[in-house]
Amino acid sequence: MMNNRIQNLKSSVSIKGDYILYWMQQSQRISYNHALTHAINLSNDHQLPLVVYFGVTDYYPEANLRHYHFMMAGLQDLQNKFRDLQIRFVICKTSPETGCMELMKNAAYLIMDKGYTRTQREWRQKVIDKARNLDINIDEVESDLVIPIETASNKEEYAARTIRTKIMSKIREYAIEPDDAVPQINSLELTFDLPFEEITDPMLSLESLDIDTSIKPSERFKGGETQAQRVFSEFLNDRIPFYTLRNHPELDYCSYLSPYLHFGHISPVEIVVRTIDALRSNPELEESVDSFIEELVVRRELSFNFIYFNPNYDSFKGMTYQWAYDTMELHNEDQRDYLYSTEEFESCATHDPYWNAAMKEMVHTGFMHTYMRMYWCKKIIEWTPDCETAYEIAISLNNKYFLDGRDANSFTGVAWCFGKHDRAWIERPVFGKLRYMNENGLKRKFDIDAYVKKINSMIGE
Ligand SMILES: Cc1cc2nc3c(=O)[nH]c(=O)nc-3n(C[C@H](O)[C@H](O)[C@H](O)COP(=O)(O)OP(=O)(O)OC[C@H]3O[C@@H](n4cnc5c(N)ncnc54)[C@H](O)[C@@H]3O)c2cc1C
Repeated sequence: MMNNRIQNLKSSVSIKGDYILYWMQQSQRISYNHALTHAINLSNDHQLPLVVYFGVTDYYPEANLRHYHFMMAGLQDLQNKFRDLQIRFVICKTSPETGCMELMKNAAYLIMDKGYTRTQREWRQKVIDKARNLDINIDEVESDLVIPIETASNKEEYAARTIRTKIMSKIREYAIEPDDAVPQINSLELTFDLPFEEITDPMLSLESLDIDTSIKPSERFKGGETQAQRVFSEFLNDRIPFYTLRNHPELDYCSYLSPYLHFGHISPVEIVVRTIDALRSNPELEESVDSFIEELVVRRELSFNFIYFNPNYDSFKGMTYQWAYDTMELHNEDQRDYLYSTEEFESCATHDPYWNAAMKEMVHTGFMHTYMRMYWCKKIIEWTPDCETAYEIAISLNNKYFLDGRDANSFTGVAWCFGKHDRAWIERPVFGKLRYMNENGLKRKFDIDAYVKKINSMIGE
């Protein structure tokens, strides 16, 4: 039932090797991990032990202590779960592809999950290149999108409307539970000559890594699959009936799943399957479920389509449309009423209390409500000397503070503020034809003062 997620990248002449190797990198979980299921099936079929490997590098672009702490908590959680499954889990402090190359020398099969960003794709390509002279099978398994990226579309899509039918017409076929797979061989006793890390305390493990420690871990969000499942269950039990009110940042009806989706602590396939089950037992949820699936599947997978097919997804030049560049160029010299530096933005010190509250949510908790993310980025466009500077500031703050930063959605969300996947609007100063947002919109659509109060009490101000 899951062959449609597996792509064979290399076949071997014979099945030779001491074990089946699953290089886990994107899908940091057990549940609904199609790559893990495939690896367990191969281990049982060939009666070879299964080894799961994860490489922790200190050189991941833009990652800091906040991100690493969240990820380490997840790895500690996984370490215990793999022990219960009697599967050897090797967490190694090394660049992920280097550790994989070492371990694959004695493996019969290499299974890897799919990565979409430039760094993730480069890692995988290096491993494939290195494996050319080895007699090894390599399969890549896609488990972090509901519809595998090239199955949804084989080109960069223009907007949600152009990809929606392609995705929604395949959702029944792909939103299914993976087969049950129980490992038959205990691999816990296998040993490897690699710098191996047993995580007893995420903070302690991080001390030996040379990472940026300036951004503290989030107290609001704890990482890991167990936490992800808890947050999702709370959403399904308590909040989804009110999801139609998700655009009210003063209320709490969104799912808060983006940090967990980013680290692969939960699968979007599982979210869809369980959400549709909830709808079956309560048909009144239909409107909420439709809106949620639109965000989780159509919008999210449009973001992955953008970064997968557009090599300029993370740079000002090339990330948006020509009409947007033309209008930005025309209005780059327009008089700005306020100008702020990156440091002033980071200190939440603008003249606008609503914007400052959003920035506080980001700096202190690692999250920001969707509606405020749009307002936040649009105002950076308004309060910087030109659009290229605005883009650089927005993407760097986004990726520095958000737990879900450096994601396909990060690059697409920021690009959207510069016209990507959007249309031209009525022309006005500074923005030209880019969509404009102002504080009257906030006041009209929801209780923005209640949002400010909520954030202040959350961070103890
Ligand atoms: C300027 C800007 C920057 C953004 N930066 C990021 C980022 O760094 N990381 C990130 O994950 N998202 C980003 N987003 C998209 C969106 O705001 C977040 O995914 C959402 O706020 C996450 O909260 P949630 O999980 O409670 O969302 P929910 O409303 O519960 O939605 C469920 C899931 O659907 C997806 N989703 C929701 N809204 C969008 C959207 N507009 N586009 C694509 N997918 C969506 C997310 O995966 C989300 O977890 C950004 C949006 C903008 C406008």
